[in-house]
Amino acid sequence: MWQAEVRVDLGAIRDNVALLRARTSAEVLVAVKADGYGHGMVPSARAALAGGATWLGVATLDEALTLRRAGIDAPVLAWLLSPGLPLHEGVTAGVELSAATPALLDELIAAGHRAGRPARVHLKLDTGLARGGATADEWPVVLEAAAKAQAGGEIEVTGVWSHFACADDPSHESVDRQLAAFHDGLETAERFGITPRYRHIANSAATLTRPDAHFDLVRVGVAAYGLSPIAGDTFGLRPAMTAHARVMLTKRVPAGQGVSYGLTYVTPRETTLAVVPLGYGDGVPRHASNAGPVRIGGTVAPIAGRVCMDQIVVDVGDEPVVAGDVATLFGPGTDGEPTADDWAAATGTINYEIVTRFGSSRVPRHYDGEIAW
Ligand SMILES: *Cc1c(COP(=O)(O)O)cnc(C)c1O
Repeated sequence: MWQAEVRVDLGAIRDNVALLRARTSAEVLVAVKADGYGHGMVPSARAALAGGATWLGVATLDEALTLRRAGIDAPVLAWLLSPGLPLHEGVTAGVELSAATPALLDELIAAGHRAGRPARVHLKLDTGLARGGATADEWPVVLEAAAKAQAGGEIEVTGVWSHFACADDPSHESVDRQLAAFHDGLETAERFGITPRYRHIANSAATLTRPDAHFDLVRVGVAAYGLSPIAGDTFGLRPAMTAHARVMLTKRVPAGQGVSYGLTYVTPRETTLAVVPLGYGDGVPRHASNAGPVRIGGTVAPIAGRVCMDQIVVDVGDEPVVAGDVATLFGPGTDGEPTADDWAAATGTINYEIVTRFGSSRVPRHYDGEIAW
């Protein structure tokens, strides 16, 4: 018996990955960072592999090591590495690591010495996002250092990669510009004798809309969890996460009753209020106050008043709702319930954030779908 839970359909993750894999001749890496976008990192990773992913991607070294400790031996790339980390632990665990500076390459060389085997490295080029990666000016310096270390058997360059800024808007001029810059960067790498097995730049959006950006590997995140990165097209993906809770109590109140902190919602008529035990301490954005849609019984209504730390209130009118009924915040949308997209629209954010906020939260996560491994 659960009071509130996040349900994750692992079969949906597996099927979404299989669908994505069928759209490309490249290998598929599934991003399972941030606790698998809130779906649970290790179960999501296993479902992704069952769907045909051959790589997993994470931001941090810790995330990569957690996958290894869970017994997952598929190729893993970790791409968010500040100076001074115990990178040798990653090298020993066979984790591939991203680098964009000579300083990090030096750390990777040292890590390889300590691990007794060369670090496998993906060199990152900034093609226009201006986040991680070497700028076009820095790129030859990085390549020179990498080529020298590779010639000395101190690292192995297995990838060259980059990341899009605006692939969710496929007609944005920056997509072509970044793609051209990536081609240039690959040519420069070749001049330094660096011809990596994996060239990769596509995220979910580019995987779905830009086959010319697939190269040897695509990195999908949000689409694997069944959410579309592109407004207005689901691409046949199935959302994997449902967030719901059982109504704690109901009460009948008169017209003019202010509801929740600040009394920012006032009942327009005599009505029934349902108290639902999920709040911002669980991942419900406080921005969803008076906005986030909730389905209870046959009605879908916005949250009445402010989202509290542990609870929300819904005005269900004259619906015969009783304590114990299920209140669904979002799910796949196949049964009339709101979706993460609806929540994103109601709260001024993106579907990514809606699901990821439920990662590592106090709400128990339960899994549907048998994934054999
Ligand atoms: C998170 C992430 C991805 C996946 O992005 P989606 O838009 O969710 O497909 C790909 N590459 C990098 C570097 C990332 O950080």
